[in-house]
Amino acid sequence: PSAPPRRPIRELPDELISQIAAGEVVERPASVVRELVDNALDAGATEIAVKLLAGGVRAIVVEDNGAGMPAEEMPLALRRHATSKIASLAELEQVETMGFRGEALAAIASVADVALCSRPPEAAHAHRLDARSGELSPAARGVGTSVEVRELFFSTPARRKFLKTDATELAHCLEAVRRHALARPDVGFAVWHEGKLIAQWRRASGEQRLRDVLGDDFIAQSRPVDARVGPLRIFGRAGLPDAARARADLQYCYVNGRYVRDKLLAHGVRSAYEDVLHGARQPSYVLFLEIAPDRVDVNVHPTKIEVRFRDSREVHQALRHAVEDALALSRAGAPPEATP
Ligand code: ADP
Ligand code: MG
Repeated sequence: PSAPPRRPIRELPDELISQIAAGEVVERPASVVRELVDNALDAGATEIAVKLLAGGVRAIVVEDNGAGMPAEEMPLALRRHATSKIASLAELEQVETMGFRGEALAAIASVADVALCSRPPEAAHAHRLDARSGELSPAARGVGTSVEVRELFFSTPARRKFLKTDATELAHCLEAVRRHALARPDVGFAVWHEGKLIAQWRRASGEQRLRDVLGDDFIAQSRPVDARVGPLRIFGRAGLPDAARARADLQYCYVNGRYVRDKLLAHGVRSAYEDVLHGARQPSYVLFLEIAPDRVDVNVHPTKIEVRFRDSREVHQALRHAVEDALALSRAGAPPEATP
């Protein structure tokens, strides 16, 4: 077969670059929820409301009471590679915010209708920016930001076809908020669907938040984990072997407050259960790792769901031992903790 005729090399138009990049960041409504809640947390919000229509496909509105944005910066927030969170490589290596790539809002705005409404404390009123028209107008709201995302993938029907039923997309959105809620008991979360409040987690202690999100059964059937190994702190709860499940649907791992899905971490935890869990049974756990930011690279994946550790063996071992210690306690017949 003859080779296709050669076409000249061209630079892609900006819009298309954003749409391509959006493929990495925005898979479904839940990815949008995740990014918008990340932004609200980075803005120091203490109350976050997520309002959805049709499982998030028709609309996702995230409202926060964080620091807001001055009107003149709102157009920049939507530009690719524009961020207030890092300014240098040195800052990237020490980054403690959820975001830093300056990509999410630009990506989302390239595959959906986006509007921002924001008011910083020093502003007399809010401003609203419509991304499509670029129109900036005065608006009414308290200090903080609302981001509205409508008609996800309306211009990319091929991608829209990959969406599942509204009920499934809603479940993924709820899970995205749940992941944040577990890590941030100091922040109140509310989720609305079609005008109805479907989940609410009020500000609470860490222990209480785990109970509120995962239920009394998980607390009763798990043990606290709290270990310090070298530069690493590991805390949270590990499920008793008896409470293992058929599915890996209650496994939460965080690194410096960021939810991650990491084979190394999962394997470290799993290895602690080696002798007590048989077959395909899956342990339940919520584990938070804290490590100096320069010992972990969070910039390996566009959604930052994967991380790379400088010393991965050490982390693996530490995790294994922390969970083993927590479980050994229960094997020795420690009484279940009193409920508060
Ligand atoms: P990143 O989070 O990586 O900086 P984003 O595209 O998610 O990139 O956001 C771009 C910028 O818009 C942020 O750096 C921040 O300054 C601003 N921003 C976005 N969402 C909010 C919010 N909820 N409150 C205040 N500022 C926000
Ligand atoms: Mg962001």
